[in-house]
Amino acid sequence: MPYTSSHRKELDLRNELNRTFFGASDEISKGRIGLIRRIRRDSDGLAIRCECRDQITDEPSRDFVCSDCFGMGYLFDERKIVYYKNDDAFRRWGYDLFYVEYSVEPTDKDYIIEIERDVEGQPVTPIVRSRVYKIDEAEDFRADNGRVEYWRIRASWQKKWSVWYDVPVREPGAAS
Ligand SMILES: [Zn+2]
Repeated sequence: MPYTSSHRKELDLRNELNRTFFGASDEISKGRIGLIRRIRRDSDGLAIRCECRDQITDEPSRDFVCSDCFGMGYLFDERKIVYYKNDDAFRRWGYDLFYVEYSVEPTDKDYIIEIERDVEGQPVTPIVRSRVYKIDEAEDFRADNGRVEYWRIRASWQKKWSVWYDVPVREPGAAS
């Protein structure tokens, strides 16, 4: 492949974001560990409902913390992600911005979960979920060659689920 100077100058945003998130010798890590929650779907693409729903009202259980759906009413899987969050600038519009690495591939059907951290910024164990955000929009940012460099997520805090906050709960099976 012939060498071209434009190759060398092209900013590698994946690499830059990785340094920002995880730190480097000359940079403090700014990423936070959280979870991305994806609703399980059947072969028709329909969300799989949790069995804790009331047979009459169809509401998910509110009498106890359902350890399968945490009150969402749907089954889901979670995995850890690292994100950078713009904490204050957009609060007055009622949403928050999260930035995640290219590999996360979020959709507007997913949720971001903030988790409690200790004084050193590490997640407490067992994991305590502190805030649930519904993703409203997930935009991929691409380089000129079409490669996805990172994702910007607009998400809104689900205050109505605050009844479940600070409740340590069993990990769903797929979390890792
Ligand atoms: Zn349930």
